[in-house]
Amino acid sequence: MAIKKCENCRHQFKWSQIFGSIFAFHALIKCNACGQEYKVSSSSRLIHELIVIAAILMLSLFLSSNPQISFWGTGFGILIAIIILISSFFPFYAKYQPVE
Ligand SMILES: [Zn+2]
Repeated sequence: MAIKKCENCRHQFKWSQIFGSIFAFHALIKCNACGQEYKVSSSSRLIHELIVIAAILMLSLFLSSNPQISFWGTGFGILIAIIILISSFFPFYAKYQPVE
């Protein structure tokens, strides 16, 4: 598990750069050293989305068994926290492919 390095120049991508791209709908990441662009592999993206969906399902089960917790208050806060937590690990396992 390591954060992506540029395949051309071995420039190390920053965690924050990959993390930020997730919230821009998995935008391309660009090497700051040589300008090579990379797109996230569809399998990494799928894994991330499945984990997020599983977390949302578990949260909705939890909320439905705890009706005193309102979704639009606490539940929504928990949801955002879970998505940020899951996404913070994404840069460590995400695979990126160079864009031609
Ligand atoms: Zn590079």
